[in-house]
Amino acid sequence: MAYREKRRRVNPRFVALCLAAVLVIAAGGFCVWRMLFHGLPGENVKLPDYVTEDQLTKNPWSRPGTELESIKGVVIHYVGNPGTSAEANRNYFESLQDGAEGIYASAHFIVGLEGEVIQCIPLTEWAYASNSRNEDTVSIEVCHPDETGQFSPVTYDRVVELTAWLCDTFDLTTADVMRHYDVSGKDCPKYYVEHEDAWQQLLKDVDEALTALKVQAAQKK
Ligand SMILES: [Zn+2]
Repeated sequence: MAYREKRRRVNPRFVALCLAAVLVIAAGGFCVWRMLFHGLPGENVKLPDYVTEDQLTKNPWSRPGTELESIKGVVIHYVGNPGTSAEANRNYFESLQDGAEGIYASAHFIVGLEGEVIQCIPLTEWAYASNSRNEDTVSIEVCHPDETGQFSPVTYDRVVELTAWLCDTFDLTTADVMRHYDVSGKDCPKYYVEHEDAWQQLLKDVDEALTALKVQAAQKK
């Protein structure tokens, strides 16, 4: 009997140590599992040569640093400020960080008037651009020369190229490409909301560019 009683009395320190060890092993295992099988979709993506990276400083107003756990679509916007460059719009997002304007705004990419592209939010993080779809989409802001909001030919071609690249990279189709208008009803991108035919043409052009990318990739194999 004495022997059995002795066995029942377990040292609480030993139990605590065991629990701590189990926790450490579980946490380590989770990290390894996440690294191997559940990386963020935008991790380790090599950007096209035409993209210049100029990330915003992390801040609550334009770059919250929230992880983008999935990428299920691409949302197209227009900047709404005619004649401004991609850099000017990037700097505007950066300027929101002190909160003085009380505006939450940003985008992953800005396509400029000369077809230049600035990435200002990494593809692993949320941008503040598309309301309820911030959590699972990549956003593209597009510069335009005048009030109509129509993209210039060189800008248009770049938007098509970039959107097709995103679809290819994240296994999306043109059914996953939307206007800000399609998310929230906002008149954005203005010209392509007011001209449904122009929007349908843009989707068609993205589809063609996407097919070309897939053919290129197949030929490389
Ligand atoms: Zn918009």
